[in-house]
Amino acid sequence: MTKLATLAQRDLLCSNCAGQCVYAPSTGTLTCNSCATEHQIIPDPNADPAAEQHYHPDMPHTEQPRFATDRHFQCDSCGGDVVFQGHSISENCPYCNGSLVEQAFDESFAILGMIPFAITDRAAQEKAQDWVKRRWAAPSNLGALISNCRVAGIYVPFWTFDSKEAIDYTVRYKKKVGKRSYTRSLSGSMKTYFDDLLMPASPHVTPLIRDGILHDFDPDKLRPFEPAYLAGFAAERHHQTVKQGLACNADDKALLLRNRIIRHSGKSNIVDVSYLTDTTGIKYRRILLPAWILHYEYEGQPMKVITCGLNGRTFGERPFSMLKLFTYAAVLSSLAAGFGFVWGALNIY
Ligand SMILES: [Zn+2]
Ligand SMILES: [Zn+2]
Repeated sequence: MTKLATLAQRDLLCSNCAGQCVYAPSTGTLTCNSCATEHQIIPDPNADPAAEQHYHPDMPHTEQPRFATDRHFQCDSCGGDVVFQGHSISENCPYCNGSLVEQAFDESFAILGMIPFAITDRAAQEKAQDWVKRRWAAPSNLGALISNCRVAGIYVPFWTFDSKEAIDYTVRYKKKVGKRSYTRSLSGSMKTYFDDLLMPASPHVTPLIRDGILHDFDPDKLRPFEPAYLAGFAAERHHQTVKQGLACNADDKALLLRNRIIRHSGKSNIVDVSYLTDTTGIKYRRILLPAWILHYEYEGQPMKVITCGLNGRTFGERPFSMLKLFTYAAVLSSLAAGFGFVWGALNIY
């Protein structure tokens, strides 16, 4: 068993009663579970959590991942064995429920900034249930099913990427001349850039989780990494090299570039886009962002609802009631038939 000095635990105990504390999103403090004392969290005033790192693809890589999969620790409070599995950096002691957070990582994978939870578990629970209730054509028993499920809070790893792109492109598009349509092509060049493109830094960050957080990210809200913000929440460490991060997100970036090229070309009926881009000025951040996740199962199918930990915006997966869908479809088609009839009637002179 190794006991590393990099584990934050004593700092997470109550200075009043030595009880276990957790981060409270409602007050932004480390709050004691036993005596309810609120401890202010004071991040390193010299840290600049919004600072970006430069990346040159041709420079030799200095990132040397040395991640042991399972790390064993001994709980300071009760002496129990705590295992951190995989890329987890925040756990609760299974014996005394105390918070244990890893605070120093492999230097080259350091988390530079994070945004702490602003939404409480109760608010997230309500949002997730509201979301399900408001779903059009959801099965009627879904609300009751969800009310038994609990949200879990997790800090998920993200990248932000900046880059400048100098693009030479060719678009092929269909053009109608008379009754015939021809395929034409147009070549052009353009310059564009990305600023704080938010990208997943782990295969566990599914598109649903990413989209749930995507629209609310504000780099000004970043704070320095502090173990106290993680107390009581799950968290995943960063473990991708910058090169891996860029490669994993290449498809998403290509889609954005494609859309910008189409807009720049001014053409519609596009059939194909090809381009070469010269990417320079890559800058990045490794950050953690908060999400509440509610897992549920519907007829054997695993689904989840995500509530953004920044502002409570909620997205999810849900089943459809085939009966309700058929009913709506029938109503819609009879409405359409009605409009058709009126339209037909108005056109009779
Ligand atoms: Zn206390
Ligand atoms: Zn313990």
